Amino acid sequence: MAKKLAPRDQGVPDHTTQLHPVMLRNYGKWDYHERLRPGVLHYVSESGESLYSVRAGSPRTLSPERVEKICEIADRFCDGFLRFTTRSNVEFSVDDEAKLEPLIEAITKELGFPIGGTGPSVSNVAHTQGWLHCNLPGTDAAGAVKALMDDLIEEFENERMPHRVKLATSCCQINCGRHADIGIVVQHHHPPRINHDKMMICELPKVVAICPAAAVRPVVVNGNPSVEVVEEKCMYCGACHGQCPSMEIRDANTDTLSIWVGGKGANTRGGPSLMKLAVWGLPNNPPRWPEVSAAVRTILQAYKEGAKDWERVGEWIERIGWQRFFEKTGFPFTRYHIEDGPNAMWTYNRSSQVRI
Ligand code: SF4
Ligand code: SF4
Repeated sequence: MAKKLAPRDQGVPDHTTQLHPVMLRNYGKWDYHERLRPGVLHYVSESGESLYSVRAGSPRTLSPERVEKICEIADRFCDGFLRFTTRSNVEFSVDDEAKLEPLIEAITKELGFPIGGTGPSVSNVAHTQGWLHCNLPGTDAAGAVKALMDDLIEEFENERMPHRVKLATSCCQINCGRHADIGIVVQHHHPPRINHDKMMICELPKVVAICPAAAVRPVVVNGNPSVEVVEEKCMYCGACHGQCPSMEIRDANTDTLSIWVGGKGANTRGGPSLMKLAVWGLPNNPPRWPEVSAAVRTILQAYKEGAKDWERVGEWIERIGWQRFFEKTGFPFTRYHIEDGPNAMWTYNRSSQVRI
């Protein structure tokens, strides 16, 4: 008898099971779309069928009750279909124009979510898990994002930027928030502090191998195996702390926040690009991180005033030059802005098919 194999469950799940039936019927056959207002799009297919989508900004961290409410609204108006975008927006779709206004009213009044995030607006902010789940965070990405979005909500609800601005926040330098037009990333400023008494041998091989700068090496301390860090090689990335809690890199007194600009994941025009450092040394200042919001606003203002229509932040900076970017924003240019890994752009993986 042939042995039964377990079903294959790796790879990307079949997304077509989650598409609204009108979307599925007309997949790849759309004639045009129009933006009825920020956050509301009307798609018309070659067959003449219509679909309306409403994009709502979620607060990203959702309680089960809130998820249940979202599903109930999707059942009531959208035949049970909805989707989350990569930046944590909830997108509802209806095939009947008469349902549009009641749906918008339910989203804004019952859920309290703003509508927007389409066209040349500021997107909802992609952020990393932070204290909710990860063992590495030097700050609370979710909290910093909440404060930032409170500040920028009008830019989410209106389409008055030169092009879409995507934001991301990461609570350590591993940057799983990924590259964005404007990215906020924690920076550490010294090597990890090793607690030799608590060093567990279990992760020792991994912790040596994980260091991208080959700065961690085995050593015997007081007769016990442990590790040491060659400080001249360490670039304070914190990857070792992810493997070993006994290598603590977080420091409430010295950790700061930095802002990076010009990242892009799309293949459009110049292709994907990595973010570059704009500002560093901003205080890690909960609960509202006002210095971060002020710096992001400064960048947005300069971009709004200087960019041509449909120019992304990175494309605008490449056109005017980095010197003028620093002149226009007023941020100081320091030696830390100089790229000292000249081949990095060509050796890093820059495909839009993987997270860069
Ligand atoms: S950015 Fe770093 S600390 Fe934050 S969730 Fe990702 S790996 Fe964890
Ligand atoms: S912080 Fe990064 S560079 Fe420094 S020892 Fe740890 S893994 Fe290596």
